[in-house]
Amino acid sequence: MTNRANENLFCRIAAGITNPQSPLVHRSDNSTISYLNMLRRSAQYANVLVELGMKPGDRLAVQVEKSIDALFLYLGCIRAGGVYLPLNTGYLDREVDYFVADAKPVIFVCTGERRSSLEEIAGNNGVAHLENLDDDTGSLAKKADEADTSFEDIYRSGDDLAAILYTSGTTGRSKGAMLTHNNLYSNAFTLVDHWQFSTNDVLLHALPIYHTHGLFVACNITLLSGASMIFQNQFRVKDILSALPNATVMMGVPTFYTRLLSAPAFNRDLVGQMRLFISGSAPLSPQTHKDFAKLTGHTILERYGMTETNMNTSNPYDGERRAGTVGFPLPGVEIRISDQVTGDPVENGDVGMIEIRGPNVFKGYWQMPEKTAKEFRDDGFFISGDLGQIDKDGYIAIVGRDKDLIISGGFNVYPAEVENAIDALEGIDDVAVIGVPHADFGEGVTAIIVAAGDNVPGVEDIKDQLSRELARFKMPKEIFFVDALPRNKMGKVQKNQLRDKYRNTYFASSRTS
Ligand code: AMP
Repeated sequence: MTNRANENLFCRIAAGITNPQSPLVHRSDNSTISYLNMLRRSAQYANVLVELGMKPGDRLAVQVEKSIDALFLYLGCIRAGGVYLPLNTGYLDREVDYFVADAKPVIFVCTGERRSSLEEIAGNNGVAHLENLDDDTGSLAKKADEADTSFEDIYRSGDDLAAILYTSGTTGRSKGAMLTHNNLYSNAFTLVDHWQFSTNDVLLHALPIYHTHGLFVACNITLLSGASMIFQNQFRVKDILSALPNATVMMGVPTFYTRLLSAPAFNRDLVGQMRLFISGSAPLSPQTHKDFAKLTGHTILERYGMTETNMNTSNPYDGERRAGTVGFPLPGVEIRISDQVTGDPVENGDVGMIEIRGPNVFKGYWQMPEKTAKEFRDDGFFISGDLGQIDKDGYIAIVGRDKDLIISGGFNVYPAEVENAIDALEGIDDVAVIGVPHADFGEGVTAIIVAAGDNVPGVEDIKDQLSRELARFKMPKEIFFVDALPRNKMGKVQKNQLRDKYRNTYFASSRTS
């Protein structure tokens, strides 16, 4: 036992609950789940986890569909001093096998449907208990129903692990980012203030909860500010449209906004009482920013974060929210831009690697000390892998992932710039710009476009318009039209898939069409 204050994230949340009867969740049938319900149900899950043998620092792997009980299981795990490890429900057995072998959870909670197929994986990897949870039913929920509704939160220091989130691993193996109680608390605390959350807020929550955005940004902020949320299990335009008049804030990925904009029933009247729309996890095109403001009168606030660091920057709440930028470093977070090759600071305005230091930055990659060491500078800055630049007013713009940078004819081409130029043209619904091998240029700039409606612009027409916006070396050499871009649930275009598909574009014998 220790006399130091318990720095367990949950204790800090619980300490701020002034009215336990107030609503935490609004259900679609108009019933509510109160903070008191949350305290009780999360205690039940904490008790069950401890009874199953979970000790502080043990991992709990969870691959279930989004539900209120899944949220309470996360809180129960934190309360019990466990390390929460959420897994995307889309992961197949082979992928789950890797995570389980790597993280060695003591308990694995899956859906009833997957249970039999995951038994072998759990058994082979020494998982002591395989349980299932489907909304508020399943073996784990049943145990929770019978458990005590009070629980004494396990002592954790701020530096102890609260969660491991695996990065999406589009190149190489997925890495487990270790996040501490302090990482999560400090970031949520900062954002509550920065985005002016209060008990009056109702957050429209339609993001998945296996990812930083939906779990930590959305839920931790709501809990810490005493706000409430409309919890939708997935993003469906119809459900969003009916929930919007009852909400005050929405957090979304850019595709939420483009999908709303293309819904004929979406209009200004639905968002009259909204105070804030936030976007992140993928680039929001300036065109969408503009279209949204024109239609609704609301200027979307774009912010920038990542699994390893929580949130790093945000456009201002009061003040200009500048399209195509992610705003300024959050209070307490330091950002610098360094030369990709030498690591030296770049001149103001130049593009370089974004480096981040602050209480939000993770503790390292699980079981990968060498990889961790390689991604941190000696003075503690994390090398993010994102390329960015800072304009004269201090606004930061992301120009793309380091690995998505295109080098064509020796020149650097930043995909975001070309994508934004194409997106601003008439008749374009979606676009991704990639570099693929080219015998003369090293890489050829290649645009993959989704046209809006039937009014498909011609390739020559697009090139002609772009030639007035972009230097020659940035111009797409080839343009392809597709029905949809491969995007993951967080709205990120899977550029590795596109690069693979179009890799032979500039080799005549196997031209892609
Ligand atoms: P994840 O770890 O899945 O949250 O992905 C983090 C990555 O998403 C970052 O490293 C960026 O490449 C990208 N990202 C997040 N927010 C933004 C944003 N507002 N604009 C552009 N890219 C973003």
